[in-house]
Amino acid sequence: MEQFDAVIVGGGVAGAAMGVALGRYNLNAVVLERRREVGEINRGDALQIAAVRALDRIGALDAIFEAGGQKTGRMVFSHYRKGLLGHFDISQAFDPPFNYILTLPHEKIEAALIQEAERRGVPTRRGHTVRMIRRVDDLMILSVHGEEGDYDIRARIVIGADGKFSTVRKCFGEEPETYWYEQECVVIEAEEPAGVPTEMRMAYHPDGFLVIGPLSPTVVRVYIMSLRHDAANIFRMSADEIRKLAIGRDPFLEGYQFSKRGAHIFKMGLYHCNAYVADGCALIGDAAHITSPAGGHGMNLAINDAEELADRIGPKLAAGEPVSMGDLKDYEAERRQANEQALRQAHEIFMRLTGPDLGYRIMRPLLFWTWANIPAIPGRMFKQMVNLGISPSRRQAS
Ligand SMILES: Cc1cc2nc3c(=O)[nH]c(=O)nc-3n(C[C@H](O)[C@H](O)[C@H](O)COP(=O)(O)OP(=O)(O)OC[C@H]3O[C@@H](n4cnc5c(N)ncnc54)[C@H](O)[C@@H]3O)c2cc1C
Repeated sequence: MEQFDAVIVGGGVAGAAMGVALGRYNLNAVVLERRREVGEINRGDALQIAAVRALDRIGALDAIFEAGGQKTGRMVFSHYRKGLLGHFDISQAFDPPFNYILTLPHEKIEAALIQEAERRGVPTRRGHTVRMIRRVDDLMILSVHGEEGDYDIRARIVIGADGKFSTVRKCFGEEPETYWYEQECVVIEAEEPAGVPTEMRMAYHPDGFLVIGPLSPTVVRVYIMSLRHDAANIFRMSADEIRKLAIGRDPFLEGYQFSKRGAHIFKMGLYHCNAYVADGCALIGDAAHITSPAGGHGMNLAINDAEELADRIGPKLAAGEPVSMGDLKDYEAERRQANEQALRQAHEIFMRLTGPDLGYRIMRPLLFWTWANIPAIPGRMFKQMVNLGISPSRRQAS
C-alpha cells in the first residue's frame, strides 16, 4: 500500500494552497481531487487584500499574476435612480504593494495553485474520490475510488480540503448546522464596452443590490442579489431580459452584452465547525466554515488556514516526527478565532446590504450614501478587512 506524509483531500483553492504551502517542506504529499478537470465549479473570482498577502507569504502570488490576475484598485457606488454616488480608491487608501483586490476567473486561480504545488513536488491526482478514512495505529487509511478502481492508501496526516459536504469531516463526526440565507444571488457574465476602467461596482436598488466585478480584461461577472423566489424567476429569464433588469438596478450597464454562459444561482449559507481537528486529520477552507459573500472572504480564509496548518505540521512531517493532537489543536485555536471574527463581520455587513427586515431596508440607502460620500467609512471597513481572517500571530499594522 502506498504511504504519504500528507494526503490532501480536495483540490479546490484550499487544497491547492495547502499543496503549495506544504511544498516548501520537501514532503511526500499528494492532493486527491474528485473532479476530472479544473473548473466545473461555480465559485468566486476576487481575492481580497488579506488573501493576496497570504498568497505572497506562501510564495504563490507570482503564479496568480502569471495566470492573468488583474489588479482592481477602485470601488464605485451607485444608485438605480441617482446614478453615480461616489467611489473609494483602495489603491490610494493603502500603501503598495498590497493596495488592490486581485481578480482572476476561479478556475484559473485553482489551476495556477495546482501547478505551483506540482512544481514544488506535490502532485494532484484527478478523478480520485475519497470515500472513507479511518485510523489504524498511528496512521490514517483512506479508501479511494480512482479511475482504475478502488484502492487504499496510508497517510501520517489527512487534510480535509473537501468543501461544504466534506467526507473527511463526516468521518470524524463533525456535523455543523448550516444557516441558509433567505437571500440568493443570480450570477451572470457580461461583456463590457471598450474603455471601461477595471473597477468593482456596487449599485443600490430596493429589490436587491448589484455587484459587478472584473473577470477578464473585457468580461465582468454581475451578481444580482434577490430574495429566494425572485432569484429563481430571474434565473429563468433570457439573457436579454436579465440585462434589462440589471440596467434597471444600475443604468451604467446600458452598453453591456449579457450571456447566460456560466450563469448560476449562488445559494448562500453560514456555518462554522466547533472542531477543525481529530487525531490524524485537520480541516481547512469550506470544510471548516462557509461564509456570506460580503467582503469576499471564502478564499482568504481558505488560504490563511492552509498557511497556518502547513507551518504547524510541515517541519514535524519533514523531520519524521509525529504530529501530535496538541499541534493540531494549536492550529485550530489560532484559526478558529480569526475565522470566527471574519464570519461574524461578513454576516453583519451582508445583512445590512441585503437583509429583508424593515429596519435594514430603511437604513440601506443611507448606508450606500455614506459609503459613497464619506470615504473614511469604507476606508475604516477596508482597513479592518486587511487583517480580517489572518491568524492573530501573523497580523501586522496596515
Ligand atoms: C458563487 C460563489 C462566489 C464566491 N465568490 C467569492 C469571492 O469573490 N471571493 C472569495 O474569496 N470567495 C468567494 N467564494 C467562496 C470561495 O470560492 C470558497 O470559500 C473557496 O473557494 C473555498 O475553497 P475550498 O477549496 O475550501 O472548497 P471547494 O472549492 O468546494 O473545493 C473542495 C474540493 O474538494 C473536492 N472534493 C469534495 N469531496 C471530495 C472527496 N470525497 N474526494 C476528493 N475530492 C473531493 C471537490 O471536488 C472540490 O474541488 C464564492 C463562492 C461561491 C459559491
